[in-house]
Amino acid sequence: MAYKLIDNYREKGARKRLVVKLRERGIADEAVLSAIGKVPRHYFFDETFWVQAYKDIAFPIGDGQTISQPYTVAYQTELLHIQPGDKVLEIGTGSGYQTCILLELKAKVYTIERQENLYNRARLVLPKMGYRPEFYLGDGSKGIPEQAPFDKILVTAGAPFVPEILLKQLRIGGIMVIPVGDENQQKMITVLRVSETEYDKIVLDTFRFVPLVGDQAW
Ligand code: SAM
Repeated sequence: MAYKLIDNYREKGARKRLVVKLRERGIADEAVLSAIGKVPRHYFFDETFWVQAYKDIAFPIGDGQTISQPYTVAYQTELLHIQPGDKVLEIGTGSGYQTCILLELKAKVYTIERQENLYNRARLVLPKMGYRPEFYLGDGSKGIPEQAPFDKILVTAGAPFVPEILLKQLRIGGIMVIPVGDENQQKMITVLRVSETEYDKIVLDTFRFVPLVGDQAW
């Protein structure tokens, strides 16, 4: 896929309208909306499909995977309550779009992808856009133990359960956001680590993600 990094008035306008739409759908965190307004989502699309880039839809990115729907990205990001300097583990780099949103919020991002093609593509594109997370290739269902603890953990693929090993990599006071369910639909779950042994779990809305595939997943 050939990427063209040109952000012209048509794309800027479409991005503004997307922000308006997300606000109407209930996204209220101004920092998240501002990040969505800044990251050129069309950079993750072939120019032929730029017209799709600011619709509120998921879109195929190859290798059977998708760039998440903007509403889903905004919804998950809002739940994380990112503070500048937060150390964030993102599981499922995919296109890298969500990674850019986290970086716009001034998080330090460790992002892991299991598919080599996607990992290589994100590693190429993000630095060209000025975004520099730490990239990892591997099974994110086991986390990145050598970099733990994390202030926030974001899972961007549907898991069958909340992996215990990920909970252990959360700092006390930290938040994990993870969609959990079967292959057809998942409930968004937030987990707050209250103490060494206690976790508060909240079950939220229903979504549909591609599956989290790995040792601690499908
Ligand atoms: N957040 C991404 C974006 O903005 O483009 C979308 C992520 S896509 C919905 C889910 C990604 O999770 C896919 O790229 C998939 O290959 C990846 N994935 C699935 N299981 C994984 C695992 N165990 N470790 C790391 N990545 C995984």
